[in-house]
Amino acid sequence: DQTLAQYDPEVAAAVDAELARQRDTLEMIASENFAPRAVLEAQGTVLTNKYAEGYPGRRYYGGCEHVDVVEQLAIDRAKELFGAEHVNVQPHSGAQANTAVYFGLLKPGDTILGLDLAHGGHLTHGMRINYSGKILNAVAYHVRDEDGTVDYDEVEELAREHRPKMIVAGWSAYPRQLDFARFRKIADEVGAILFVDMAHFAGLVAAGLHPNPVPYADVVTTTTHKTLGGPRGGLILAKKELGKKINSAVFPGMQGGPLEHVIAAKAVALKMAAGEEFADRQRRTLAGARILAERLTRPDAIEAGVNVLTGGTDVHLVLVDLVNSRLNGQEAEDRLHEIGITVNRNAVPNDPRPPMVTSGLRVGTPALATRGFGEEDFTEVADVIAEALKPEYDADALRDRVVALARKHPLYPGL
Ligand code: PLP
Repeated sequence: DQTLAQYDPEVAAAVDAELARQRDTLEMIASENFAPRAVLEAQGTVLTNKYAEGYPGRRYYGGCEHVDVVEQLAIDRAKELFGAEHVNVQPHSGAQANTAVYFGLLKPGDTILGLDLAHGGHLTHGMRINYSGKILNAVAYHVRDEDGTVDYDEVEELAREHRPKMIVAGWSAYPRQLDFARFRKIADEVGAILFVDMAHFAGLVAAGLHPNPVPYADVVTTTTHKTLGGPRGGLILAKKELGKKINSAVFPGMQGGPLEHVIAAKAVALKMAAGEEFADRQRRTLAGARILAERLTRPDAIEAGVNVLTGGTDVHLVLVDLVNSRLNGQEAEDRLHEIGITVNRNAVPNDPRPPMVTSGLRVGTPALATRGFGEEDFTEVADVIAEALKPEYDADALRDRVVALARKHPLYPGL
């Protein structure tokens, strides 16, 4: 009955070091967040011990009466939050949720139409060496050269030409809202299923700060750990008539026992996402991203070759464009890492630099908003980033400003 620290000091030390890293740096990876304490607690429970193949009330194992309660709570809360007819809370991750959608609704060799990875799409939207690109016939649409927004005319043309079985709307690196009504219209014209992957923006949808794709789409997936701020995992929301196909694609199609401890944590996160505190957090997330976009498009930033794609943002991230900067994506990521800000480099559309180097950065605000950052703090963060990307920068002074911000908003004070 030993604690982690007593039994395995090596693992415990790495966990402690990771907590210290999260506390002392500014986390601006757009897909990351800090799961609140109640979520962490739910995930660290004895529910991890339970086998529960099947669904609430229809399990292949005995003793499921309590995990049934937890899973049903998660399902009901997700239905309510997003207005969905059918919900499956069992996918272990976003990628597995997407696999289940393809597996349940398509056949190998069917055509899908998704956003190109190099233009902001996700691996699972048909990238060549991802299973989605290997097993399905993936055709890609793009963003427009002129303004970096999705080229709906191209989506329409490609849909007419290739008659896809499914159109995938969603992104991993795109700073604007999608036009779900337009996607629906195109899908209807060619008889395609409309699948929206809202992994990145689900938290904004939950707070009513982004259009909800659920009324437009046949099926919607999300991760639960990005803007939604819950445990690492996935969800599928579908029209009622697709419910059976989706459920059997997840289990027994792809997964065995569900992670009921994670599902408990999803239930807690979904309860939080319906609250006013969560909505306030999402408002600060959006405000922070807008401030970043504004301050990274000021004349002195542009003089240093820094700009932002599409000229701004409607969501929780900005895509910093370094095509005209002497700094490439790798160097910019390293500079920010050096002063205590964590971001990831990201290719921009038609990137002239190689994929391991890139000419962009993806900078997101959800984790800092969860930490309590408000507009004043985000202004300071944006100015620190702008300074760090100039030809001459004072790393020590910028690091001190980062430390001051981190101290102002202590992370997990009770842990
Ligand atoms: N879908 C989108 C749009 C994503 O951005 C991601 C993750 O980055 C995923 C799916 C995959 O989620 P996971 O990493 O949980 O498999």
